[in-house]
Amino acid sequence: MKHYQIVIVGAGFSGLCLGIKLKQAGIEDFVILEKAADLGGTWRDNTYPGAECDIPSALYSYSFEHNDQWEYKWSGQKQILKYQHDTAEKYGLMGHIQFAEEVSGAEFDERDKLWRIATVQGRQLTAQHFVTAVGQLHHPATPHIDDAQNYAGVCFHSARWDHTVNLDGKRVAVIGNAASAVQFIPEIAERVKQLTVFQRSPNWMLPKLDRPYAAWEQRLSSKFPLLTRIYRFSIWMLGEWVVLPAIRGNRFARWAVKKVCLGNLHKYVKDPELRNKLTPDYPVGAKRILFCETYYPALLRENVSLELAQIDRFTEHGLRTVDGRELSFDVVIYATGFKTNPFLAPMKITGTEGRLLSDIWRDGAHAYLGVSTHGFPNMHMLYGPNTNLGHSSIIIMAEAQANYVVQAVTRLKQEHKRVMDVKQSVEQAYNTELQSRLADMAFNLVDESWYKDGNKITNNWAGGTREYVRRLKHIDWSGYHTA
Ligand code: NAP
Repeated sequence: MKHYQIVIVGAGFSGLCLGIKLKQAGIEDFVILEKAADLGGTWRDNTYPGAECDIPSALYSYSFEHNDQWEYKWSGQKQILKYQHDTAEKYGLMGHIQFAEEVSGAEFDERDKLWRIATVQGRQLTAQHFVTAVGQLHHPATPHIDDAQNYAGVCFHSARWDHTVNLDGKRVAVIGNAASAVQFIPEIAERVKQLTVFQRSPNWMLPKLDRPYAAWEQRLSSKFPLLTRIYRFSIWMLGEWVVLPAIRGNRFARWAVKKVCLGNLHKYVKDPELRNKLTPDYPVGAKRILFCETYYPALLRENVSLELAQIDRFTEHGLRTVDGRELSFDVVIYATGFKTNPFLAPMKITGTEGRLLSDIWRDGAHAYLGVSTHGFPNMHMLYGPNTNLGHSSIIIMAEAQANYVVQAVTRLKQEHKRVMDVKQSVEQAYNTELQSRLADMAFNLVDESWYKDGNKITNNWAGGTREYVRRLKHIDWSGYHTA
């Protein structure tokens, strides 16, 4: 059985980041197990038309890997995936990634003080450190709709776009209207015969102000990377100093963000009735704030309609709404997001005394700093519980977590110790503080969103990125049992 110092699960932005940091620290004894045939995580899986990042690339990229070749301010999926490939190649990571290896479970062996890891493909391996880097948005959520088996048309989820289906001239229904939907609806609206968007709740939407970079800007960025750093800093500031305060309930920031969103809406939608349908009744930031200027114009097209009636069931030829109308569709596209809870499912993870992580997290996932959870020694999480953001780039968080893990691995080795386990009291105190801060934030003002597991906010961080990076900069070893 092959043994590694570190086994990382997932070759998306976080897993790659940790691989790079380990190599930079001179640690080569690690493997990244990736269930798919390619790296990239969400940027490999989401290939729907118009897929792009809703954080500008200058910020949504590694701080240590400047790219002066971004084509657009907000890059498309293909270019982001290329950036991930190029970066993995540049830092010599490809040899560390094993593709088509899906981790089914991991169990901590208390006697040998190591993790025993198994893959769906039947592989068994052991590791001193077990690191999950599986992202939060990778299991498409497809809501149950009655009689789906009776529908004779085609159905697929936006995150598993079926490129073999030609939408030209088709009657198409889209269920959902959030971050993914507003990106592909404008793209397909021009091609389809009829498009019906089923909206359950509208979204706050800021203008995107995207444009291609001019060749001279790329040259300038290449010659003076400092300029791009300044630009990166300005985008970061906007998130931290305007959007985050709005999410925290600062009245002025909330008013300002709302005003810009409403300005975006009023600019395109003149009909007060439609405007009313597109105006959220929940506070700004409670769900992800979207960036888009093409969605509203798409809704104004002759062949596009916005449907507020909820879906009752599938029929043979389409969907029936709860008010009894039967609508015919050739294709139904679910843009219904991702199943984010339970965290780390379906991996079966067993810690000390045979305790299952799924049991420990029965009432919602929790972790100290989003990285460690008591009873699971030497298990570290990247993009773990309460580390998602509504206002900035997740890559900042991933870098902080990767640095933390490298520190942990290095220090244990230096001190000839084998295990670290966060103290239960420390994790509990941290989570009490976190949840009390989250209770005052906009995320808490809606009953349901992918940020929550029941009533508990399990996905989002409560502060700014600067605070998070600071708290992870040096491990407070007094919070851990080591042996
Ligand atoms: P989402 O934000 O979870 O939105 C799902 C949509 O489907 C919502 O409109 C939701 O309505 C609707 N919906 C869910 N279940 C439904 C049901 N049973 N019946 C009717 N409607 C239903 O999913 P997403 O748009 O895929 O985005 C998920 C996250 O991925 C985003 O928040 C963002 O963080 C990330 N993302 C990022 C980018 C990017 O550019 N970086 C692009 C796409 C996605 P309600 O609002 O009423 O629940």
